[in-house]
Amino acid sequence: MFSADMKGSLFLVSAPSGAGKSSLVNALLEKVKGIELSISTTTRAPRPGELDGREYNFTTVEKFLEAKEKGEFLESALVHGNYYGTSKKWIEEKMKEGTDVLLEIDWQGAFQVRDIFPEAVTIFILPPSIKSLEERLHKRGQDSEDTITRRLLGAGAEMVHAKDFQFVIINEVFETALDEFRSVVIGSRLRFKKQYARRTDVFIQLGIPS
Ligand code: 5GP
Repeated sequence: MFSADMKGSLFLVSAPSGAGKSSLVNALLEKVKGIELSISTTTRAPRPGELDGREYNFTTVEKFLEAKEKGEFLESALVHGNYYGTSKKWIEEKMKEGTDVLLEIDWQGAFQVRDIFPEAVTIFILPPSIKSLEERLHKRGQDSEDTITRRLLGAGAEMVHAKDFQFVIINEVFETALDEFRSVVIGSRLRFKKQYARRTDVFIQLGIPS
């Protein structure tokens, strides 16, 4: 199970659709070593350009509920009418070996995980304005007008939960937001327990108890 002395850190990143979360996460993963993204399972249909096993593991509602019943998910939630879930096993393995894991999940999922694992670092990404959110959703060109309207309405409901996250990044200037995101990840690795788990030899040699 999850314990605070695991070498890896767990990052929970939430944002409303269109805040630029995926671009920021992808840029972070390129820039920072030792951190990997968990691939979620979802019952929503793939968007154009999305590949099974890359963006998501796409599945049916029946199979999703079966996996949930078997306890295979660390958390799961119904978002915009589709099920999403995070697989437990892969994350535990990665964190034990010292790899940090990043979850791109909605606020409901983030709070479920935080309840199980309070050491998880919670990060909320906000757009600088509603207008920019709308522009990004249109520019993406992957969703129908109906879906965009539904996502915009959902954005307000998602954003009220920003106050319960530890860190908030406003994605106004991409490079600045990326720098801030990187600082949070690097800083979180320096927490005493994580340093101790990663560099136990140094602490023992210096006579510092855990
Ligand atoms: P999208 O369909 O646009 O990829 O994602 C819609 C929402 O579902 C986003 O807020 C995203 O963070 C969330 N999401 C993606 N994967 C998971 C997951 O495994 N669990 C939960 N709870 N939310 C997820």
